[in-house]
Amino acid sequence: MEKLVSLAKRRGFVFQSSEIYGGLGSVWDYGPLGVELKKNIKERWWRSMVHEREDIEGLDAAILMHPKVWEASGHVAGFTDPLVDCKHCKNRFRADDPKIKGTPGQPDGQCPVCGMKGTLTAPRQFNLMFKTFMGPVEEDAAVIWMRPETAQGIYVNYLNVLQSSRQKVPFGIAQIGKAFRNEITPGNFVFRTREFEQMEMQFFVKPGSDGEWFEFWRGERMKWIQGLGIRQEKLRWHQHGKTELAHYAKDAYDIEYEFPFGWNEFEGIHNRGDFDLSRHQEYSGKKLDYLDTTTNTRFVPNVVETSAGADRTTLVVLCDAYREEAVKNEDGADKEELRVVLKLKPELAPLKAAVFPLVNKDGMPDIARRIYDDLRKRLNVFYDDGGSIGRRYRRQDEAGTPFCITIDGQTSQDQTVTVRDRDTLKQIRVASAKLLDYLKEQLTG
Ligand code: ATP
Repeated sequence: MEKLVSLAKRRGFVFQSSEIYGGLGSVWDYGPLGVELKKNIKERWWRSMVHEREDIEGLDAAILMHPKVWEASGHVAGFTDPLVDCKHCKNRFRADDPKIKGTPGQPDGQCPVCGMKGTLTAPRQFNLMFKTFMGPVEEDAAVIWMRPETAQGIYVNYLNVLQSSRQKVPFGIAQIGKAFRNEITPGNFVFRTREFEQMEMQFFVKPGSDGEWFEFWRGERMKWIQGLGIRQEKLRWHQHGKTELAHYAKDAYDIEYEFPFGWNEFEGIHNRGDFDLSRHQEYSGKKLDYLDTTTNTRFVPNVVETSAGADRTTLVVLCDAYREEAVKNEDGADKEELRVVLKLKPELAPLKAAVFPLVNKDGMPDIARRIYDDLRKRLNVFYDDGGSIGRRYRRQDEAGTPFCITIDGQTSQDQTVTVRDRDTLKQIRVASAKLLDYLKEQLTG
């Protein structure tokens, strides 16, 4: 994992937040390549959920919501983790931290950091929602929460979307947006952070058909993830047992990936029954049932949710793409060397191609610049004239760039360039006039 974190920093995928001030715990910033990678993943999700389906509408609800939303959803009362403090060293832990020996709150409870016994407090429930105040007065009546999930923005807009889009049940609402959780034990890079992005879709169905739709969405989500190019053997399902199920859930499956730190969830598919709309109906006093005009019956729709983290999915894509390989030296020396390469699916790669003049003379930079200017109107491409060709290839391997284009001595004679493939290292000559078509074909193929 350290290797991936260091590559992410070196190449500009992910930086620690506020690094020059020593960093802010478990908050990360996406650099020039990271923002492109995450955007490509989000766009792919949006396309498959919203654009390719006539029964799903998009939404972008605000992060701040009426505080009653979080009472109705159960988050004010129940979105908590048990927490213990060490009175001696002032560290904080989850009560179920396996490093704690003995029982917190009892004389045998031992702090895993300072090693003192009897200094741990009894567990207290700690709400994971970030609290702030709306308006100038910091009083209880002004308390407002930063949303810990995007789903509630969808439920409270269910009627607005239904009426304005003229959809009929079954139909869905999809949203991508930030969520905030004051996690007690964050960590593992962007796996568990305090500010993150979710890609959630809530599908509203007739009660009784929820089981079928749940299976349908499980299948669709797995297909989508496989479409990101993730190795099948690194993916598995985990069904929630009775004790794991959230208070609202009838059934739930996680999709897990084998990260370098073990198997962990990065997406959940949940059958939430009618919990959400019923609760909002009760707390708001506004009718949220649905009139089925074909049968003239009314019901509160059930919800099947697909909930993915954009950051965790980006981490899955990065972990899965990261490879170290022995390859031949590409500057012509007769030796092998180790390269780090991100074998990203070309469609997800932040940069689609890099353009290099072989040397900075003989008119090559002029031609290279022209080609670069032409390509970047259509594709995200990069220009690099620094260092040997081999070193430039290695930098693009680490960025996951599928193609490197070199302008050499032959280009001014026959108007062809070399195109080098990231994965096979093979080079072919392509007419510069046909370069864009060639790349577009390869990138979508
Ligand atoms: P976990 O058990 O790992 O805390 P969860 O079961 O609470 O996750 P959900 O509430 O189902 O997660 O959220 C759906 C998705 O949102 C997760 O699969 C994950 O991809 C993402 N997610 C949740 N919490 C975080 C976090 N703190 N940092 C990054 N992504 C997160």
